[in-house]
Amino acid sequence: MKNNKITNNFLKKVVGPDNSDNVKKIIRKLESGVETEDELYEKINQKNLTKENINKLLNKLHELSITECEEKEDPETKKTQVLWKFNEENLNEKIEEFSRQNEIINNPISNDFLEEKVDSNDLEYIKYIILALIDGIETDEAIHEKTNIKLNTVRKLLYKLHDASIANYKRNKDPETQWFTYTWRFEKEEYIEKITEFHTKRLNARESTLEDLENNLYFVCCMEPEHFKGDYTESSEYEFYCPVCDYELEPYDAEAEKKLLKREISKDKRNFKKIEAAINE
Ligand SMILES: [Zn+2]
Repeated sequence: MKNNKITNNFLKKVVGPDNSDNVKKIIRKLESGVETEDELYEKINQKNLTKENINKLLNKLHELSITECEEKEDPETKKTQVLWKFNEENLNEKIEEFSRQNEIINNPISNDFLEEKVDSNDLEYIKYIILALIDGIETDEAIHEKTNIKLNTVRKLLYKLHDASIANYKRNKDPETQWFTYTWRFEKEEYIEKITEFHTKRLNARESTLEDLENNLYFVCCMEPEHFKGDYTESSEYEFYCPVCDYELEPYDAEAEKKLLKREISKDKRNFKKIEAAINE
């Protein structure tokens, strides 16, 4: 199994963001020739990885044919054993199919956009909730089942998506229990719109900073650049002395900053093309 980002992200989708490290350990062991659940349990030896969990994770992979199993009789004990195998070819095929979805949630632009919407510890969760919605999973319970994300967190983040108009729900009354059920839907058009807005705003800001740096001379404090940075007019107001420490101001060498901005601008443009292609496919 390749150890790269997309493999990681794909496994997060299959077993849930919190289980991907464990499932990687399982696959590594299967690759090294370990075959039974008991042996996996002994060799991995992780507090949070019970035999039951190992079985659950193996079966999740099995649903996608990433693992295979067969029953065999142990020649010594005469007991039937389940032997597991890892199918790398199938994993790679699934990862390729996943690359478009990966772009939608993990492209640096979508990442930065989503990062503004949630706390940093919810960032991973909201991404895989979006994917669940894209896959047509409609209720909080079903999303919780699929992603292994706590039900409370699923609910909280669905409402965050709703606040951002990225997801919408319909309320239905169960005729028997009289309880309300909510079915959720991903709003693709809105998502594209919001991401485009976010990208355009950031790109414009970067381009205008670059333009300023190219057309103006800036001055900074000669002792500590953090103290002061201003154009000619601003600096002349202080008679070219730092308003913080009173040392002289010196011309600002903008080369490094300009280089960085140019790199960020072209990266942004490239990434935006990728996400546009993925969403519109
Ligand atoms: Zn200073």
